[in-house]
Amino acid sequence: MISIWLFMGPPGCGKGTQASLIKSQYTDIYHLSTGDLLRSEIKANSVFGQRVKSFVEIGKLVPDELVLDIFSRTVSNFPSGSSVILDGFPRTLNQAESLSLQCSTNSFNLAGALWFNISSKVIVQRAVSRRVCVDCGEIYNTESKVPKILWNCDKCGGKVLHRKDDTEEIVSDRLLTYSKDTEPLKKFYSHKDLLFEIDAQEDTLLVQAQILRLLKKM
Ligand code: AMP
Repeated sequence: MISIWLFMGPPGCGKGTQASLIKSQYTDIYHLSTGDLLRSEIKANSVFGQRVKSFVEIGKLVPDELVLDIFSRTVSNFPSGSSVILDGFPRTLNQAESLSLQCSTNSFNLAGALWFNISSKVIVQRAVSRRVCVDCGEIYNTESKVPKILWNCDKCGGKVLHRKDDTEEIVSDRLLTYSKDTEPLKKFYSHKDLLFEIDAQEDTLLVQAQILRLLKKM
C-alpha cells in the first residue's frame, strides 16, 4: 500500500518548498512534482520533452493524456509502505478522477488534499523573486534565500536561474488557469472529506508546522 498526500494550491504557493523540506526529514516520504518531471524531460530533450515544452514555457497546462502518462509511469516505482507527496498533480477534474481510479485499482490510499491558501498578490511577488536550481530543483529567493555562492546551488552546485514561466505576465496567466481548472478540485476533495486547508501566507516554518500537524492526524 502506498499513501498519497496531495499538496495543492496556486502556482508559487510554496507547496514545492514545503514538500522538499518534509521529504528531507523523513526517509520513507517521497516527493513527486509533475512540474519537475516535465522540466527534466525538456532538459533531456526527449521526444516526450519536445511534446510538452511549448506548454510548460508559456505556463499552459500540459494536455491531460501526457501528464497522466508520465504520472502513471513514475508512481508505480515507489516502494510499498511509502508515502508520496504529489505536488502539482492533479490539476484538472479529469486528472483527479483518473487518480481516484488509479488509487482503487492499485491499492493506493489517498490520505488527503492539503490546500495552500494564499493571495494572488503575494503569489506574483514570490514568483518574480523565486529562483530554481536547473539541476536538482532546489528553490531559492532573491530576498529570503540566496545561495552562498551567487548563483550556484548550495546542494549540488548547479546553476540557479529564474524560471521562464515565473514572469509577472505568465504568472498572472497561470493564476487564471488555476482558478478555472484547478480551484474547482477544492469542492471535489471537500465532498470526499479529504480537504485540509492551510494558511500558506505565513512564514515557511509556521506553514511547515501546520502541515506536520495535519500529516500526523491523517
Ligand atoms: P509547476 O512546477 O508545478 O508550477 O508546473 C510547471 C508547469 O508544468 C505548469 O505551468 C504546466 O505547464 C506543467 N504542469 C505541471 N503539472 C501539471 C499537471 N498536473 N497538469 C498539466 N500541466 C502540468
